Order: sequence, then structure tokens, then C-alpha cells
Amino acid sequence: MTNSLPPSPCDLLVLADVIITQDDARTVISNGAVAVTGGLVDRIGPRPEMERAYAPADRLDLGGCMLMPGLVNGHTHLPMTLFRGFADDMPLMEWLEEHIWPVEFQLTEEMLGIGAALGCAELIRTGCTAFLNGYFHEQVTGDAASTAGLRAVLGEGFFSFPSPMFPTAQACWQTIRELHARYADNPLVTTAVTPHAAFTVNPEELAESFELACELDTPWQIHLAESPAETAVCVEKYGRRPLDILHERGLLTRRTVLHHGVDLDAREIAIVARTGARVVHNPVSNLKLCSGIAPVQAMLDAGVTVGLGTDGAASNNQLNMFRDLSYAALLGKLRHGNAAAMSAQSVLDMATRGSAACLGQPGLGRIEAGHPADMIALDLSGPNMQPAYNHVSLAVYSATGMEVCMTMVAGTILYLFGDFRTIDVKSLQAKALRASRWVVSQAGK
Ligand SMILES: [Zn+2]
Repeated sequence: MTNSLPPSPCDLLVLADVIITQDDARTVISNGAVAVTGGLVDRIGPRPEMERAYAPADRLDLGGCMLMPGLVNGHTHLPMTLFRGFADDMPLMEWLEEHIWPVEFQLTEEMLGIGAALGCAELIRTGCTAFLNGYFHEQVTGDAASTAGLRAVLGEGFFSFPSPMFPTAQACWQTIRELHARYADNPLVTTAVTPHAAFTVNPEELAESFELACELDTPWQIHLAESPAETAVCVEKYGRRPLDILHERGLLTRRTVLHHGVDLDAREIAIVARTGARVVHNPVSNLKLCSGIAPVQAMLDAGVTVGLGTDGAASNNQLNMFRDLSYAALLGKLRHGNAAAMSAQSVLDMATRGSAACLGQPGLGRIEAGHPADMIALDLSGPNMQPAYNHVSLAVYSATGMEVCMTMVAGTILYLFGDFRTIDVKSLQAKALRASRWVVSQAGK
């Protein structure tokens, strides 16, 4: 009997009313506990048994809460948090050319750092523990994530035409190598090769950059089939739809991450499934920019691994994965004309295990022995979280994100009941105000 054994040591024992594990069997445990040691989950089980089995150095009793894996944001542009609400309600090209790009060309690392830190604070507050980024000056986001204690995959973006950072695509690749080396020993931060899109990076440079991703063994991520308009541009420019441009050159593999995938047809979904490429669904951004509704249930039916992302705060305007969870489920039903499409469980899978696969870190997105202790807790005491027939349903349809009362990455608590442990949110508020004035002054030039 284990009862006769002396209790084992562990760093931390976390106790909660309910635990959504997201393990292979999608086990939900009532009155459970998770033992954490060395940043990893040591064991998970019913509370009485775990209390007998462990003599923890520390205890975190989250009575009245449910514990679940930290959400994984599969697509965002963190420093663009600086542009939240700066230019809303206009078509994509007008938004980019007249508002975003003129300011982006002036961005300083200090301003980017404020945007990235603000983004980290919002991710932590709304229960996200890891994210796949794409932007410029990515070491700024890497350092912000490191300071905040979040996991980040950095994507230094490039085009075939001059960007705010690089005159050519090739000029970016040395930066990618340097970023990769800079974070080689960082347990939280890794990199991805990030061409912007099939209509802004030419096919030869797409292929060259893919070789770099293979060499560094990183994900290769790209905006793809975001809207019918993008398809039309590719067809006019190259005589091919965006996915075919990649497929022809063998760029669809398990390291390929396709952001959006709104305008993928049945033939293309079959190709994505066959090649093992991943898709990240961004339902709120797709709505705000009027891009369309991605056929995600068809992708899941075909066996495609799908993650979930918010996209940047300039086109969402939140980095709150809980909002994208409910939109993904609701829009999916409308898109497929079927109330049974995009179930709560399938959508939660996307925001946890699916996005984790997109980050190239399949150990994330679940609470399971031997896996990283990246967990969040939701306070169940609010009226919108009662009654509790099904906790996965509560997480997807009822939670707003503001129920998050604890966020933990690798066993370290980043946020607990209103207290940010790694970010000075008060001084960040003052910096954000200063940054917003700077953005307005640059836009007026
Ligand atoms: Zn994007």
C-alpha cells in the first residue's frame, strides 16, 4: 500500500476543486491536486491521495477554482499592442498603408518594448502561458517575455521588399541566426522563421527561408489564405493560389504553420492534411478585418492539426484567448451550418494541444506527469460560472478571461488574485500613455 510509504518531497502542491487535464483521455478530475517539481508536473490525482503521497515545500490551495492548462496563443504580433484601437473600422489596405506602416517605420526599441510588455501583461492576466509571435526587433519581445516569465517563439518577419528593419529578405536571415543563438540557452524563448505571406515574399525566397528553418530546426510560419483578396493577388502575380505556391516547392511539412487559412478549399484542405502542415485559426481578427470565416471543422475532419490565435491587438483588439475560444466555436457552427460543429472540447483542444503543436512544443497544452507545469486557474464563484454541469463548456462558452486568478509557467506563479509577480503594471500604465502620445505624434508627420 502506498499509505505505508513516507510522503515524497515536491516543490509545490496545487489543489483545486476541478482539474481539466487535457491529457489523451481528456480526463477531468474533481477535488484534485497537482504536484510540481523542477518546473514539471510530477503527478496529478485526487486530492486526498495526493495529500498523503506528498510532503510539499509549498502549497497553493485554490478552493473554488478550476485548474486547466495554460492557453497557447498560436498567432500574435505582441508589440502591436501599442496600436490597440489606434485605427479601427477600415479596410485592411487603408489600415496598413495610411495608419500602421507610416508609424511602424519610425518605431524605436523603447516603444516596441512598451507594446511587448503590455502584451505580456494581458496574456498573463487572461491565462495565456505561451505564444507564437511575428514582428520586427524580435529580441525586444524575447526579452519582454523572459522578464515576464512567459514562453515565446520569436518570428523576425521579412518581405521581398524593404521593411522597417531589412532592405531585403536575405538581410533578415542573419538576424534570425543571431536571435536563435541569443536564446539558445533560454528555457522559455525559441525562434521560428517567419516570411510574411505568399504575396509579399517571392517563391524563391520562401524556399530559401524554409531551408533556414530546416537548418535551425524551427517552425516555419506564414500568413496564408487570409482572405479571398489575398488569393486574387497571388493568382494575378504568380498564376497560382497561395497554398499551391508553397506546395509546388515542397514547403508544406509538419514544421509549416499557416496563419488564418480562411480561403482554403476542400482540395487544399486535403493537401494540408496529407502534408502534416498546421493551421492557426484567428476568428476575431478574421471578423474585424472582414476576411471571412475559416472552414475549421472541415480541417479537423480531414485530420489537420489546428491551433488558435488572437492575431495582434491592432486587429482583434484583445489578446484574450477566451474570447477567441467562444468565437471559434460559435462561428464554426455558422460556417458549417451545423450546431454540432466545433464542439467546446474541440475548440479547447485547439487553444491548448493544437497551438502547442504549432509552436513545435507538443509537451505544452496539457497537465500531465513529466510535462511543463504551465497552468492557469479560473475562479468559479462568479454568477456566469454557475451552475457547473460541464467545466469544458464553462471554459469555452461562459468564461470571459477575467475569471483567471492564477497563471503559472514552468512552476513559477506569474499572477495570483490580482497580483502580477513579474510585471510592474502601474508603471507600465504610465509608459503606455507616453507611448500612445508618441504614436499619435508620428502619425501626424
Ligand atoms: Zn497576423
